[in-house]
Amino acid sequence: MALFSKESCVLCEKEAGALGRTKLTDKSSKLYICNDCVKTKLSPYVLPGYMSKADIDGHLVQREKDAEIYEQYFKDFSYPKVKELFTETPWGSWNLGKYELRHHRESGYYCIWEPYPKEGQTFDVFHKDEAQGACIWGEYKVGSDVKILPDTTHMTLTELKEYPDKDIQRLTLTIFTTHPYLSLIDIPMITNGGKADANERIRENALNIADAFNKGLQEELDEHKTTNKEFRQSAKETRKSLFGALKEGAFNEDAQAKVGTFLTQMQARKDTTTVDDRIADLRRTNDPKNRF
Ligand SMILES: [Zn+2]
Repeated sequence: MALFSKESCVLCEKEAGALGRTKLTDKSSKLYICNDCVKTKLSPYVLPGYMSKADIDGHLVQREKDAEIYEQYFKDFSYPKVKELFTETPWGSWNLGKYELRHHRESGYYCIWEPYPKEGQTFDVFHKDEAQGACIWGEYKVGSDVKILPDTTHMTLTELKEYPDKDIQRLTLTIFTTHPYLSLIDIPMITNGGKADANERIRENALNIADAFNKGLQEELDEHKTTNKEFRQSAKETRKSLFGALKEGAFNEDAQAKVGTFLTQMQARKDTTTVDDRIADLRRTNDPKNRF
């Protein structure tokens, strides 16, 4: 019965049938948003089925703010002219197949741009300080089979042989951010195969972006490496004071403190992982589907 009943949209109040609407997550009452509003009012990078009415309202306010940022920094975007190729222009951009990632250098904002925008259309923006990391993933065709490329941050020659650009069927760039509504941005760069050289350019651009956004993760991990040096020093000192305590037949305060430090550092060492591990963490923590 519910399948045929019409429900009104929380944004435009239009009546929509089961196939023309998405149910919001509010528990207190059944609320819906119509497909037209999803398409025209929400970012293509949010999942309304995982949002409450309050989330939708917050998102719309945020979109207005982001639209102002777009107006301010990206409205006048232009590609560098030939004579400017070796000078610093206000913007940088990466071709991502059906999309383009644009960067306004001075402000540090990024914008995910699509060709053929409608009059007055703005695009999602996020700040470089909000970018946490990025990776690519996709599907490659092997004969009539499909081979999955899991979340990847860089590719070695061996991996490129295993996943040749000519075989790309689908390739997506995922950017993880702390933007309140864009925690996981999936950009479907290639959706239906393509020529090897065009695919190669897109894949290389996406991996360069991943490199740039993963710098923070790498620095974090490098900091942990210093911890490793301290860890060895601490292990040595702990051993010394434990032996001292054993000799005296008393587990004194000094030994206790040393053991405490040692255990803390041991935990830090356990947390030391690779960039790919951190990407896997972000995939878990930033996926709006995992909030429920
Ligand atoms: Zn609506």
